[in-house]
This record gives sequence, structure tokens and C-alpha cells, in this order.
Amino acid sequence: MPVDTILRGLKRFRKNIFPKHRELFRKLALQQRPTALFITCADSRIDPCLLTQTKPGELFLCRVIGNIVPRYPESIGGVSATIEYAVGVLGVPDVIVCGHTDCGVMKGVLNPEALKPLANVSAWLEHAQPAREALVKPDTDLNDPEFLLSLTERNVVEQLKNLTTHPSVAARLVQGNLKLHGWVYDIGRGIVTTYSSRKERFVRVRTIRARKTKAARSRS
Ligand SMILES: [Zn+2]
Repeated sequence: MPVDTILRGLKRFRKNIFPKHRELFRKLALQQRPTALFITCADSRIDPCLLTQTKPGELFLCRVIGNIVPRYPESIGGVSATIEYAVGVLGVPDVIVCGHTDCGVMKGVLNPEALKPLANVSAWLEHAQPAREALVKPDTDLNDPEFLLSLTERNVVEQLKNLTTHPSVAARLVQGNLKLHGWVYDIGRGIVTTYSSRKERFVRVRTIRARKTKAARSRS
């Protein structure tokens, strides 16, 4: 049975993993101080903690199809409550909105007719329409994989804009102690690109070491 795989994993966690990290879990049992709110698609191929090599307690996760953040107060619900709690109560210093390649939701945005029988999914995808409207021209080839990537990137940018409509986010931005990041994860290549508002496009994420090296080179 497929669930047996999951149960075997749980057994290995209890037997091998938990005892090794007992002290971490003892601390986490009483409190959390996550370093970021990570909003990403529910797609099973994304493992935020594996991707960022973070431990339990470091990422406050919001998993939602299409990594969509409805504008406030148009759709009060789980996403807006998660944002309010992470940003307003836990005081995370960073929010990352992470889209990904081969996203079924983005394909659905390009072909809404196919999703018509799914009332909830169709309604939810309305929040991604601004990305489509911004990009689709009369001669656009909707089946072009490059266009799907462009839509995925634009959707992340639109969701970042929507984030700023949430009062808890807006207040922290005014205080200057919250940073917003837009990422796209390329599943097949293991690469993450990030939105540069200065360049108005997605660029490869530079690690802290790469940034320091560049700074050292410019000093010498
Ligand atoms: Zn997806």
C-alpha cells in the first residue's frame, strides 16, 4: 500500500532522526522563531526545507496551489491568516514567494476551459489572471515552454504586489524591517532565480559567499 512507504518513513524518523536531534526538538516543543515565511505551491515536487537546507523551526510554510496570495481583503482565508500570523505575530524578517517550473496551475491559467468543472480551482485561478493579462498578446504562443516560464515569473511578481496589500505586511514595510523576495525554482535543474526589481527580471540567486567574493574583488 502506498501509505506503507509513509509509515515506514515515520518509523525511521522515530528510530534514527528524532534521537539525533533530540535537543532541537526539545527547544522547538515550547517555541518557534522562524527566519522566513515561505509561500510556495502545494506541488509535491517542491521540498522547501530540502531546497534551502533549513531545519524544523526555520521556515514558516504556506503551501497553496499556484503560490497565490489574494489581494487583501478580497479573499480572507487561510493564506491571509497565515501571512498575518507570520508577519504580525512571529515577526519573520523575510517573506519568500516561490513559484516553480512545470506548474500545473500556471498551465491552467493558460487553459481555463479545461478546469471549468473544478469550481474551486477555477475561482482560485482568477487571482493569477493579472499575470496572464500582462503577458498575453494576440500573437502569443500559449504552448511555448518559454512563455510558461514567463507567466510563472510574472505570477510571482504579481503575488508579491498582492502581499503588500495585507495590512501586517504594509506596516512592517513602512517600519523597514521586512524584505520580500520572489523566487522561481527550476525543478529539473535544481536552480533558483530571484526577482531583481532593479533589473526588472529574474536572476540567479547569489549565495552569501558569492556576494562577499564580489564585494572583496571590488575593494581590491
Ligand atoms: Zn505549482
